[in-house]
Amino acid sequence: MPMCTGGTGSISRREFVVGSAIAGIGMAIGPMPVVTGDDGTGEIWFDRPMRWAQLTLVENDPGRYDAAFWLDYFRRIHADAACLSAGGVVAYYPTKVPLHHRSAWMGDRDPFGDLLNGCRKLGMVVIARTDPHAAHQDVYDAHPDWIAVDAEGRKRRHWASPELWVTCALGPYNFEFMTQVHREIATRYAVDGIFGNRWAGSGMCYCEHCQRNFKEATGLTLPRTNDSRDPARRAYLAWREQRLFALWRLWNSEIRAITPRARFIANSGGGALSPLDMKTVGELADILFADRQARQGLMPLWANGKNAKEYRAALGSKPIGGIFSVGIEEPHRWKDSVQSEAELRAWVVEGTANGLRPWITKFSGTLYDTRWLARVERIYAWHHRVERYLRNEQPLARVGLVYSQQTATFYGGERARERVEDHLLGFYHALIEARVPFEMVHDRLLDPERLRAFKLLILPNIACLSDRQCDQLRRFVEEGGSLMATLETSLYDEQGARRPTFGLGDVFGVRVEGPLQGPMRNSYLRLEYAATGGHHPLLNGLTDTPRIINGVWRVGVTPIRPLTVRPLTLIPPYPDLPMEMVYPRVERTDEAQVFLSEVGHGRIVYFPWDIDRVFWEVMSADHGRLLANAVEWATNEERPVAVTGPGLLDVTIWRQKQSLTVHLVNLTNPMMMKGPLRELLPLPEQRVRIKLPQGTKPAKVQLLVGERAPRVEQSPGYVDVTVPLILEHEVVALDF
Ligand SMILES: [Zn+2]
Repeated sequence: MPMCTGGTGSISRREFVVGSAIAGIGMAIGPMPVVTGDDGTGEIWFDRPMRWAQLTLVENDPGRYDAAFWLDYFRRIHADAACLSAGGVVAYYPTKVPLHHRSAWMGDRDPFGDLLNGCRKLGMVVIARTDPHAAHQDVYDAHPDWIAVDAEGRKRRHWASPELWVTCALGPYNFEFMTQVHREIATRYAVDGIFGNRWAGSGMCYCEHCQRNFKEATGLTLPRTNDSRDPARRAYLAWREQRLFALWRLWNSEIRAITPRARFIANSGGGALSPLDMKTVGELADILFADRQARQGLMPLWANGKNAKEYRAALGSKPIGGIFSVGIEEPHRWKDSVQSEAELRAWVVEGTANGLRPWITKFSGTLYDTRWLARVERIYAWHHRVERYLRNEQPLARVGLVYSQQTATFYGGERARERVEDHLLGFYHALIEARVPFEMVHDRLLDPERLRAFKLLILPNIACLSDRQCDQLRRFVEEGGSLMATLETSLYDEQGARRPTFGLGDVFGVRVEGPLQGPMRNSYLRLEYAATGGHHPLLNGLTDTPRIINGVWRVGVTPIRPLTVRPLTLIPPYPDLPMEMVYPRVERTDEAQVFLSEVGHGRIVYFPWDIDRVFWEVMSADHGRLLANAVEWATNEERPVAVTGPGLLDVTIWRQKQSLTVHLVNLTNPMMMKGPLRELLPLPEQRVRIKLPQGTKPAKVQLLVGERAPRVEQSPGYVDVTVPLILEHEVVALDF
């Protein structure tokens, strides 16, 4: 079989010779099982669509917008699935459910049915969108108890459309009225699913149903605090979650009773700060959509990849769409806006590289600014062309970054962003800088099956861990895994109660001494490399200085076994003003600030300070180096792919049925930390060394984006590819 290079380009004589020499097919790694929604009917659709298109009609669209234009656009972009507005606050079909408000512009038309039929003629999967979060005056008049109530006892008008009312998500409006709506849509149209937008409520509700149901369930009155240490608040969080999952199950079963292949698809999910337990979300959903539509505020470009990893941690290889907006998604909500092409491209490919299937969302069938149409068409055309290389079966990353919703809730509370998420973000950025392919791991999914793929697990201040979770991590280490942790990891149980010492103290090799210390100012770390005559690999690249900056928070700890190495020791804080006073009072201590140990084939790194959080806040290059070295040392094996060259790249590696891909997303841009990008700036030559999975031989090596041919070298067990240039994205694809 010839070796193709340069996109789908031509074959040169040299390449042909090389290709012939290495021809062969090998499959060593079995694919992970793909859940396809086996409902006994043989109708399976979840894994089929690769490119989604969502058109959310506005109320005055019917009779005004051009349905044929949209259907033609769906065809042009090769969309194979659509999400179309059906009901909820506005019905776009001739509903018979009392109080289900028909679009005032609809007349006797059926805009939803017309679009659905058009999509079906294109062979598309179609799911119906409902949005139950707001209701009209007639609903209020007939059922005032369906309306959400604020803490002062007032019924809530809609914040953006004051002629509407905010509905209660946990009472009869959703459980009864919306169930009727969902049944009607499923019955009339036999849709493939119903996508529920804003289905989970709009903050605390103090309506009569919530008061009574909460009291009956818990014996408590509804809390008036957000403090997660408050017993009523804790009970409320658990009760609300249970109600919402009950609602999800109800809608799902009602829809499936009518159309077995159909599902209720909740617009839900996320990372540590998301409210619904992702383990349960992952169990309930056969397909899900990550709704982070674009960047806002200070947000790195890799945030879309993080989003993908968080969802995949819970859903495994089930399909996940990445919802992106063509517009600017800042809090000021310009819903009819269009953002730059560079930003749009970079955002979507960052999702694609991390396993999201693109989902373009557009509100309003009437367009005011059409610049996005061609931009999205170009993105989707490429996606369609290389689709088979995007049907991932398994990531090959060996590093897992753990996230913990229970830590965010019970340890972080109202300060979860700083105390929990910022630790994770610091590690995330450090791994990106170090070009380490990695996955994210949910802390309630630490069973050996899931962890088998990983060599190293990173616990960025995962403070709350149950005894069982600690046991699972201990077992992971016993079986050869490595562990890296920071600060208060495992110092609290799953409910946030502080333990006398770390749950994983025996693994870290420390016990706690006293409370958390900080915020420290002007504290340093002494690099102890001279004493041993050589330096520990943790200090690679740092041996030209005797010290670097310390973090801000630290835990006092004592080693429980003799330390064989002590590469970092504490230089305690000293005054930072007046300048005359700025000199260290203690130049040297023997207090270790990193604990390293080896357990069988596994390696343990424990930092008793907030290196990850401070890295996110300060971005010290020394801390970045230390984190990268620590990951390298703890992993203690060759990476599945090593990429060398200048710049900042997100590197992901995937296995498909007959191929292996390495995605390289160019994050090197002055607008990397805050969008939107103005232009795409090409990254110069990168050398990509891929360690071939056992038993595989590539028959063909190609670049899926660039036009220029790569230089390819083969050696036993490796393929070396020189990628000449990367604009926003490149994919090195090996066919087996
Ligand atoms: Zn309520």
